[in-house]
Amino acid sequence: MIDLHTHSTASDGTLSPTRLVEAAAAAGVTTLALTDHDCVAGVEEAALAAARCGIRLVPGIELSVSWRGQTLHLVGLNLDIHNSALQQATEQVLDMRRSRAAEIARKLEQSGVHAPLEGARKHAQTELISRTHFAHYLVEQGHARDIRRVFKHYLVRGKPGFVSCEWLSLEHGVELVHRAGGLAVLAHPARYTLSRTRMRELMKVLQSLGVDAIEVVSGSHSQEENRAMAQLALDFNMPASQGSDYHGPEKPWVQLGKLPPMYYRCTPLWEAGLNLD
Ligand code: AMP
Ligand code: MN
Ligand code: MN
Ligand code: MN
Repeated sequence: MIDLHTHSTASDGTLSPTRLVEAAAAAGVTTLALTDHDCVAGVEEAALAAARCGIRLVPGIELSVSWRGQTLHLVGLNLDIHNSALQQATEQVLDMRRSRAAEIARKLEQSGVHAPLEGARKHAQTELISRTHFAHYLVEQGHARDIRRVFKHYLVRGKPGFVSCEWLSLEHGVELVHRAGGLAVLAHPARYTLSRTRMRELMKVLQSLGVDAIEVVSGSHSQEENRAMAQLALDFNMPASQGSDYHGPEKPWVQLGKLPPMYYRCTPLWEAGLNLD
């Protein structure tokens, strides 16, 4: 059981790296990648826990990148977390997140939320503030019934707490992952609001940048979307990755150790460059 996309409290997950690894091992996962948003701070702790639990830990990251005004997520797998260019870039993104969080808080305050920045910080275990931390606070404060509804009514484009952000460029993200010795994977491709034409344009760009795979099987996809992404990978001769995108038990519709099987016609990333020795 291979899961190449998960989160811990080092970003917007709710389990510590240790608890995440323990939960994954208990759920039958044998290879687990920790891919926190814009951050590798949880990897060392996860690796220690994995050694104790007897499972394989793949050091990873999920970089927020911008492509033609759109935010995309790029998973980096098996990278050197001590790479200096990578460390520098994550520091830079942390700063961008700081300013963005202040701006989100200012806007939420204007729509009647009390002390949003302090509230989001309370739900974050580190300096890294994501929209998810605001979402947890807004649920706690009774502004919405659950996380999904907070996003829908407050945190997405066109809603009062949305702040657009220019992340690293897609090209830069791919280069960072490769220079740190890792493989670059487009995360949950069906989650972006791209037309079919634009999605195919993106695939061509990914090919030209040497991106190593796209996620075909994802906990953020429906079964139908998995199938469509399998076809896309086949059409562009791109290897396929898989991951739950697990964030913790608060999102019960995503579970560890429960991924549907990879499409047999796809070439799995672990047979196309991802070394799991
Ligand atoms: P950020 O990187 O700060 O923009 O936050 C993005 C994160 O918010 C994603 O990685 C998801 O974990 C979470 N997220 C985005 N959209 C939704 C949604 N509709 N429902 C629940 N969580 C979401
Ligand atoms: Mn997230
Ligand atoms: Mn993502
Ligand atoms: Mn993710």
